[in-house]
Amino acid sequence: LMEPISTLVQSLTEIQTGLAAVRRIDEVSDLDQEDTTAGAAPAVAPDRPASVAFEDVAFRYRPDLPLIHHGVDFEAGGAGLTALVGPSGAGKTTVFSLVERFYDATSGTVRLDGTDVRDWPLDALRAHIGYVEQDAPVLDGTLRENLLMAAPHATGDDVAEIVLRARLTELVSRLPDGLDSAIGHRGVTISGGERQRVAIARALLRRPRLLLMDEATSQLDAANESALKEVMLEAARTTNVIVVAHRLSTVTSADRIVVMDAGRVRAVGTHEELVAADELYRDLAAGQLLTGEDPSARSPAG
Ligand code: ADP
Ligand code: MG
Repeated sequence: LMEPISTLVQSLTEIQTGLAAVRRIDEVSDLDQEDTTAGAAPAVAPDRPASVAFEDVAFRYRPDLPLIHHGVDFEAGGAGLTALVGPSGAGKTTVFSLVERFYDATSGTVRLDGTDVRDWPLDALRAHIGYVEQDAPVLDGTLRENLLMAAPHATGDDVAEIVLRARLTELVSRLPDGLDSAIGHRGVTISGGERQRVAIARALLRRPRLLLMDEATSQLDAANESALKEVMLEAARTTNVIVVAHRLSTVTSADRIVVMDAGRVRAVGTHEELVAADELYRDLAAGQLLTGEDPSARSPAG
């Protein structure tokens, strides 16, 4: 009798761990919900990529803290890959926080599809956005549960499609029980590159019209780096994808690159244009990992 009971206790613990993780996600997405005074969501075509515009945005995290953005201006509309690059601390991740409305701009305007994000109902705004955080976590549970976390109503076909799109086929075939294998701390360890693609797949399963992705700074092996690039480019064919890019291979394939420095956009262009025209970009690109930090200080985590 002891064995089934201990199995049951173990399952309950796992279920609780899973629920706690889901609850944490809920809490994050409920942030400042009560501040929302917006009315109806703007009407949008469900498959059209969303456009993002920053208009002279200044931002400080708190009244007693210095400005982080000093008039950020850029536009990214339509399907395609936009790379945000710049030294560490330039304000790149903060751009995503303002689009998601984790915070509101101190002055200036952030627009989604031409509408001020403050005029969108918060849940409707976020329903259009897939956000892959830097070092997005893999949670304890099966691979399938990890994918369905943000899209509980997705079908088995949807999951199968996303596995293909996110180049996870090889992972699924390697795992002992395929999609139903436990991953995370209690399960099979998956590589950093696979973890990133699981996080992207989780976001894509919600069919976002805008995909915001903060690339992890850990180095990937060549196979994982090329898979990651393929996944981003494939998503960018139908979705507006904005990536905080740390890899040269990402920016060289981007449709446009926005170079940020000290809370301002200092240049916008293609890789070739910026190599020719922008000294900071040239320096960042020469370092391969575009973080403004020493790439040799990092450990490989392909
Ligand atoms: P990047 O992504 O370009 O490295 P960030 O947007 O993360 O830059 O951060 C820009 C600046 O804002 C940094 O100086 C950082 O310390 C500060 N910062 C980021 N998040 C917060 C926060 N939640 N509260 C206060 N300051 C923050
Ligand atoms: Mg960042």
